[in-house]
Amino acid sequence: MQTRHPVLGCIADDFTGATDLANNLVRSGLRAVQTIGVPSDAAAPIDADVIVVALKSRTIPAAEAVEQSLVALRWLQSQGVAQIYFKYCSTFDSTPQGNIGPVTDALLDALHGPGNGFTIVCPAFPENQRTVFKGHLFVGDLLLSDSGMRQHPLTPMTDANLVRVMQSQTQRKVDLVPYGIVSQGATAIAARFAALQAQGVGVAVVDAINNADLMEIGKALAGMPLVTAGSGIAIGLPQNWSNRAEQAGIGADRLPQATGLCAVVSGSCSQTTNGQVLDFRQQGRPAFAVDPLAIAAGDDVVGHALAWARPLLPQGPVLIYATAESTAVQAVQAKLGVARAGELVEDALSRIAVGLVDLGVHQLVVAGGETSGAVVQALGVQRMAIGPQIDPGVPWTAVQSAQWPNKTLHLALKSGNFGTVDFFTKAFALLKATS
Ligand code: ADP
Repeated sequence: MQTRHPVLGCIADDFTGATDLANNLVRSGLRAVQTIGVPSDAAAPIDADVIVVALKSRTIPAAEAVEQSLVALRWLQSQGVAQIYFKYCSTFDSTPQGNIGPVTDALLDALHGPGNGFTIVCPAFPENQRTVFKGHLFVGDLLLSDSGMRQHPLTPMTDANLVRVMQSQTQRKVDLVPYGIVSQGATAIAARFAALQAQGVGVAVVDAINNADLMEIGKALAGMPLVTAGSGIAIGLPQNWSNRAEQAGIGADRLPQATGLCAVVSGSCSQTTNGQVLDFRQQGRPAFAVDPLAIAAGDDVVGHALAWARPLLPQGPVLIYATAESTAVQAVQAKLGVARAGELVEDALSRIAVGLVDLGVHQLVVAGGETSGAVVQALGVQRMAIGPQIDPGVPWTAVQSAQWPNKTLHLALKSGNFGTVDFFTKAFALLKATS
């Protein structure tokens, strides 16, 4: 295959979000490389159509998120990309201070000059039940603010009106491209972009309720220097480089053969993940609960978890989880504080993941965006090849780590809200069938 330079450069605000985005682009036949953070080896050219830089910037202070995103932007520009894609969660997760607005402002300022430029906001991902209508984000049949997201441990979302949420975070004027325009197709959407820009609008929330809408919006985004969105909008973009998608063809998702033992580490407390943990346990499979208060009390929870896992691993996948229902999470947070509880659990789970790999686990599912970020950093992963999709938004990936130079690790990073109830077992079956 002929070497090519990347055309699309993506900055994702968490690690599961990055693989979710890369997955949607690979499904369209584009070759994608995902980097963990900005590579220090700036000179090495990347042979791919798309580069996704995975940051862990969703919940850090806004100034740091801006700084990291600008470093990523400069590196992607040095790779020659024509379009930048700032990827956030399809439930628009942001802290009350909000990082999505400040990062969008900083990227627009860098690309167009202070206060200038125009971009969209669109977290819609209809295949995963995320739709935007009249500027309001729906999760299935519920408004975002009525969904489980209102109880998220780090980024509770209590307002579904994206125009209002984004306006509270950005210096620019925010308006809407309503469904009545989107349903007329790409030409009407592009005309609305131009009209809004002429009125001094800098950010347009775009309605979208199905994949056909994503394709029309995608066409209208051709040539826009910055796109901000969930991963769904990525479904509509590759058609703008259709010559490349045809060349890459089938097989863009092929991974090396999977080997070794299987495990799941779960730090997500979403309703979806709670259901997946319950399903795994109800199947009679081995599961170990990590107690955040025991970690805080100084118990060797990591050691206990690994000693528990060692004899069980040869018989099939094991699950080690901190996942809990919202009342239990709130009780822990009341004692430890939200940030400290999150850090303690992420630290313990990432050390457990490292220990599992040392025990021979080469196939690892990680549940939770922040949790995945911590695990991937602890494993020393730098680049990931994107493989077959397990469920919308979650592919298997193959990674090399300097810590285990002779092993290929297969990782699946599952955002809390994603995956069917049997995800923790079917993921391994799919990898076996496809590699
Ligand atoms: P999701 O993808 O569902 O948002 P994340 O991993 O991003 O999952 O966020 C979950 C956060 O909750 C993490 O910081 C994790 O460490 C923390 N957490 C996990 N289990 C518990 C628990 N039992 N009590 C308090 N916090 C927890």
